[in-house]
Amino acid sequence: MTEDLRGALFRDPSVALVVVDVQNDFADPRGSLFVPGGVEVAANCAALMGDASEAGAIVICTQDWHPAITPHFQEQGGVWPTHCVQGSWGAELQRLLPHPDHLVRKGQGQLDGYSGFGSREPSTGRVEATALREVLERRGTQSLVLAGLALDVCVRETALDAVRLGYPTMLVTSATAAVELTPGAGAGALEELEAAGVKLVRRPLSGLPSPQAPATGPRP
Ligand SMILES: [Zn+2]
Repeated sequence: MTEDLRGALFRDPSVALVVVDVQNDFADPRGSLFVPGGVEVAANCAALMGDASEAGAIVICTQDWHPAITPHFQEQGGVWPTHCVQGSWGAELQRLLPHPDHLVRKGQGQLDGYSGFGSREPSTGRVEATALREVLERRGTQSLVLAGLALDVCVRETALDAVRLGYPTMLVTSATAAVELTPGAGAGALEELEAAGVKLVRRPLSGLPSPQAPATGPRP
């Protein structure tokens, strides 16, 4: 994607950029659930955030924000290794990201869910909304540009909810990557999202500074 096209994504100020879960545990190689390509995704998300802010569009980051003990984690019968524990280094936004206008936390309490809009409590089936929809409505948002991690999990669920809620939604494919617990899940997610009405912006981002070399050594 050229810089012109990047700017064009946010020409309409009623667009919101939603960057899903670009946090150390997913986007730093020392993270507990590092998504391959996560560092490049963080750099591309940072560039999109800069473009959106410059154009006057609102920038929202979601942040996976789990208690230490939750049915979301393998130790309590869930699918995932421990990640993004509230207040930990792994839960912090990846260092390349500028400050967003809004930070929306998700996956708190005993919820096992993925969407930036809300999660289901597994024992009761109750859906608990995050602040995302309220923020979008308050700002008069008419459409969304999505990016972030992971494509086949939290980005997928956030995009499907966005379409269900009636937001025209675009996903920037060079600013997302899949974790692929099942091989092929990333390609499958793109197909599913396109079929659901999400517009895929497939051209690669260009003219971006290359991401700094990934940090090495043990996680802080
Ligand atoms: Zn999580």
